[in-house]
Amino acid sequence: MSQPPPNPPPSGPPGLPPCPKCGGLSFRTGPWPWYLGTIGAMICKPVICNGCGHEFDTKKPQAHLPSRKRNLAIVINAIGGIGIIIVVGLIVWMIMNAMKPY
Ligand SMILES: [Zn+2]
Repeated sequence: MSQPPPNPPPSGPPGLPPCPKCGGLSFRTGPWPWYLGTIGAMICKPVICNGCGHEFDTKKPQAHLPSRKRNLAIVINAIGGIGIIIVVGLIVWMIMNAMKPY
């Protein structure tokens, strides 16, 4: 009953897939735009291949990283916008409640 693991571990760093372009396993951390913040960093982990300089996301190596970053920025800004709307709505609601006679 011994099944092989679905993803045989590569010989590189644990948890990191090989470079989708050259198959290299040596990376340095890629630049991370501040506007994507920690939420984006939890979803996406960009690295730059030391072999060919290709920048990709270790969580989705085949994904197009610039468009992924753009989508993340849109999602995070949308979440932030909804949060602001909720906070403003709560403040307005509290003010309206406070202005009621009872
Ligand atoms: Zn590479």
